Amino acid sequence: MCERCLDAAAGRGPVARRSILKLAALAAAGLALAPPAFAAKAKAPPKPENVLSPDAALRRLMRGNNRYVEGVSKRHDFKHEREPLSTGQNPFAGVLSCADSRIAPEYCFDVARGDVFVCRVAGNFANDDIVASFEYAVAVLNTPLIMVLGHDGCGAVDATIKSVKDGTTLPGHLPALVAAIKPAVEAVKDQSGDMLANAIRRNVALNVEKLKAAGPILKAAVDDRKIRVVGGIYKLASGSVELVA
Ligand SMILES: [Zn+2]
Repeated sequence: MCERCLDAAAGRGPVARRSILKLAALAAAGLALAPPAFAAKAKAPPKPENVLSPDAALRRLMRGNNRYVEGVSKRHDFKHEREPLSTGQNPFAGVLSCADSRIAPEYCFDVARGDVFVCRVAGNFANDDIVASFEYAVAVLNTPLIMVLGHDGCGAVDATIKSVKDGTTLPGHLPALVAAIKPAVEAVKDQSGDMLANAIRRNVALNVEKLKAAGPILKAAVDDRKIRVVGGIYKLASGSVELVA
């Protein structure tokens, strides 16, 4: 979590306090997303080009992935962005990706600071902390799109398959990961084809559904078509992202 988020969590700093107050206002308003009075108070977004519809946000992500795959990524200078981003953020997409070092959402979608709100955990599953993070992105930062991004050859999913098959308990805190990914493994155990690939895909789909159904904030935003939640698989060999949900 970045320093500003930590500040926000701790309620420090004027921007952080405004963000927390905005969430508190949401609660007071019965969690209705962006009522007129609420919207009127919002300050101008630091990146006007990030104010997009969910569909346009997805197109921008996928165009960025195309540039990345083709080796024609843009240059993203911190110097040009630091002033507007020092006082706020309005990312046009949220990405839930695996912690795998080969998956780098900012690189693979060719985006800059302030463009994507990224949550990462091995196995890219949405626990309460991840759901809360995206609630913040949607309700406070007005992010219109969330993508759950799995990848082929995922070690976390593979370890879960082995643990389920062998009936073994992994050491340390790893059982928590296994418990979170297990529903996807169980769901594909009788499916034909490659079990790892099937489980990776199912894990993405299940977590897309989980985020869509996460009431009251995300579910309301999906129902009101303010946001879309989609799923993708990152291909390690090519760098391309395939939409699967
Ligand atoms: Zn992984």
